[in-house]
Amino acid sequence: MQYLFDEDGRRYLDAFGGIATVCCGHCHPDVVEAIVNQAKRIQHSTVLYLNHAIADFAESLASKMPGDLKIVFFTNSGTEANELALMIARLYTGCNDIISLRNGYHGNAAGTMGATAQSNWKFNVVQTGVHHALNPDPYRGAFGSDGEKYARDVQEIIEFGTTGRVAGFISEAIQGVGGIVELAPGYLPAAYDIVRKAGGLCIADEVQAGVARTGSHFWGFEGHGVIPDIVTMAKGIGNGIPIGAVVTTPEIAQVLTRRSYFNTFGGNPVSTAGGHAVLKVLEKEKLQENAFVVGSYLKEQLNKLKEKHDIIGDVRGKGFLLGVELVTDREKKTPAKAEISHVMNHMKDMGVLVGKGGFYGNVFRITPPLCFTKEDSDFFIDVMDIALSKL
Ligand code: PMP
Repeated sequence: MQYLFDEDGRRYLDAFGGIATVCCGHCHPDVVEAIVNQAKRIQHSTVLYLNHAIADFAESLASKMPGDLKIVFFTNSGTEANELALMIARLYTGCNDIISLRNGYHGNAAGTMGATAQSNWKFNVVQTGVHHALNPDPYRGAFGSDGEKYARDVQEIIEFGTTGRVAGFISEAIQGVGGIVELAPGYLPAAYDIVRKAGGLCIADEVQAGVARTGSHFWGFEGHGVIPDIVTMAKGIGNGIPIGAVVTTPEIAQVLTRRSYFNTFGGNPVSTAGGHAVLKVLEKEKLQENAFVVGSYLKEQLNKLKEKHDIIGDVRGKGFLLGVELVTDREKKTPAKAEISHVMNHMKDMGVLVGKGGFYGNVFRITPPLCFTKEDSDFFIDVMDIALSKL
């Protein structure tokens, strides 16, 4: 569940969840059982021969979506899902230009590395067709929490950097790899509006923020009051199984009939049976509610730590997608790079695993399995408090 054991049997509280992936808990018995049962029945036959595992999971996922988002394509990873989404947007609109956010992460293949906008994740290969808009980052951004001001940059990119028409816009609801950055309120509705007026499709990358993690909503975009044209997901939908998905409308999905679209393992019976079990566990164990209640409690406690430790510059996020940014100077927001590694290692020595990220590598990423309890949160806070005190 929320614990990991090393080779000597020592227990660690897992507050990283395999990078926001293990949502039901490690080795959850229902998920394991579904995988084993499916593997015993049939592991693979290609999607040319239909079986219930893929159809049942697709139906279940689609039922979690608003509006006309009813067609599901399965892939093996988040990168593959975003590659497919970008291609669909380009085919549907007949345009090539994509807009993504600075500090976003969308994958590491040819197209998605272009959409990813952090130099540390970009290799020196040709990456074309993507413009990177100002990040609506309430902590470090130029316009604070004024979402609509940042959205004007999207308008300017369209006016000055494209033909005036674009293929689409892709963004996370809360940036994960970028350091749990919550987009300034009002940004996504304004940006979606601008992009749609230029003929583009809006893509929500739910690889980290989706599948109940934010607690208040099942999908991260719902927290911004928008309905995307395409939604991509991976990580949490499989609880650790390699699976991704693209969900869109029947009208948009139609573009893939122009040629043959095929993915050998995408939608394989074992992955989809496991994914379906994940959705059932989330519901049965009310894990979204737990993410909301316990995640809010944990955030409150982190804010109390901020009052005590000057090195904490910012606490942010929702549910179990939380970030704690360390700075050596609160005014200048100087990233506390060396300090964070020290605290992280000390926490590990005391039995707590936590992630780290952000462009400067100075943000704790707290993304535990959604079964994390209030007691786990108290233990986490005590351990972080001791590690920060010992700096
Ligand atoms: N999108 C987001 C928001 C991610 O966080 C990631 C992975 N960190 C990806 C896409 C890519 O997923 P994968 O590693 O499964 O290709």
